[in-house]
Amino acid sequence: MAQQEDVFKKIVSHCKEYGFVFPSSDIYDGMGAVYDYGQNGVELKNNIKQYWWQSMVLLHENIVGIDAAIFMHPTTWKASGHVDAFNDPLIDNRDSKKRYRADVLIEDQLAKYDEKIQKEVDKAAKRFGDAFDEAQFRSTNARVAEYQQKRDALHERFATALNDNNLEELRQIILDEEIVCPISGTRNWTEVRQFNLMFKTEVGSTADGASTIYLRPETAQGIFVNYLNVQKTGRMKLPFGIAQIGKAFRNEIVARQFIFRMREFEQMEMQFFVKPGTELDWFGRWKQTRMAWHQALGFGTENYRFHDHDKLAHYANAATDIEFHMPFGFKEVEGIHSRTNFDLSQHAAYSGKKIEYFDPESNESYTPYVIETSIGVDRMFLSVMCHAYTEEQLPNGESRVVLKLPAALAPVKLAVFPLTKKDGMPEKAQEIIRDLRFHFNCKYEEKDQIGKRYRRMDAIGCPYCVTVDQQTLQDNTVTLRDRDTMEQHRVNIADLRSIIEDKVSITSLLKRIDN
Ligand code: ATP
Repeated sequence: MAQQEDVFKKIVSHCKEYGFVFPSSDIYDGMGAVYDYGQNGVELKNNIKQYWWQSMVLLHENIVGIDAAIFMHPTTWKASGHVDAFNDPLIDNRDSKKRYRADVLIEDQLAKYDEKIQKEVDKAAKRFGDAFDEAQFRSTNARVAEYQQKRDALHERFATALNDNNLEELRQIILDEEIVCPISGTRNWTEVRQFNLMFKTEVGSTADGASTIYLRPETAQGIFVNYLNVQKTGRMKLPFGIAQIGKAFRNEIVARQFIFRMREFEQMEMQFFVKPGTELDWFGRWKQTRMAWHQALGFGTENYRFHDHDKLAHYANAATDIEFHMPFGFKEVEGIHSRTNFDLSQHAAYSGKKIEYFDPESNESYTPYVIETSIGVDRMFLSVMCHAYTEEQLPNGESRVVLKLPAALAPVKLAVFPLTKKDGMPEKAQEIIRDLRFHFNCKYEEKDQIGKRYRRMDAIGCPYCVTVDQQTLQDNTVTLRDRDTMEQHRVNIADLRSIIEDKVSITSLLKRIDN
């Protein structure tokens, strides 16, 4: 665990050192849970967004996009339930004065039981070697059974407390499980209280009676209030979806784990409107489609899992998270929810507008049901970074840090170096860039020895480097170096585009998704 935390720290500093992510307002010592994306970060982030957008809007004839405003009519948040119920249960430790989410403390405790069980399994696997039967061991080993029983009991108690909104019981669980504050190490806990996560501000001057509005805590409501506009103007037939990428704001109590939990972040959400009664079928299909999108990145199927919700929101009839194996455990990256007709019905009730769909096949009108897929751009960015960050020992005794980013997501696709700064090599290198920059992001580098330049490109995950040397000036060939294998081949300048373009394009990723 300590080693994993170390790796995470290194990733955070790597992000800063190489222009991916900076603390917000850095010269003023930063601001809690707010971050800025630097010159490389913005490219990576844009590529992630493009991959998502195109997978939704290009690959599905019946999905269209919108871009709604961040400010919305205040009644929106009354109707959606956010004013009354967008709360987190928080608890303070009196000694450290630190604040925590009570549910997260208990979830961490559940993860501890899982770790203990896994440790026993790993130990036994080592002991028994090839003869090891994991299923049998799990079902017969006394210690594993004891941990499992404790875990299951805790899990059940926790789920009940959440469903009943029983804050006292959440506190009691924390006391009974002897959960301590990671900072002070004590169990001196306050009561559990509810805390609304929405940021408020005012629109208009106070003289003419300013009204309170909220910074949107999710992009989804911008889609729901535009359902009629899009359905009518786009003449959309059910089932159809509306996709949106945009900023969301939450006054998170616990700002931890870098860009995993931010107060200002970005979401990619798609609401899929379906005929009532077909929603669970569509829920299953979207689970598979979204998992395929993640797995097409090639990070290994073992690093993903579904986590079904213990507590369903009162309007949902199914919900799951896609979790990714981060250095700090399996964590939610995306949520997939079957939201019934709750949102549209609420907006119809509060606005007084009829929000329905006339089904020409069955000749009836109804309020569509909704499947939502909701993924955080920043969490996705973090999972990509965590998986890509690699420290390698090289055969010559040196080591390197390389970001093994999927080429289609890499900020820079091709770096072009003149071997030396003379004999027309820089001009030749610039000429290559002038030609290729229309097709993908290229970078020119002439400072330092070639080896150092390679290392800098490895550190930002640039998949290809080209070096212009004496021979280039005679026969128009260059060396093309591959980031991962570090192998070099001599290729014709005229062939560079066709060799690289396909590998670095978002299209290559889209083709891997098995729809
Ligand atoms: P959590 O339980 O971690 O607070 P959530 O279940 O409230 O997340 P949703 O409301 O389902 O999250 O939001 C959908 C997605 O938006 C999440 O899967 C996550 O990727 C992203 N997201 C939510 N809150 C944040 C945040 N504070 N910072 C960054 N991304 C976030």
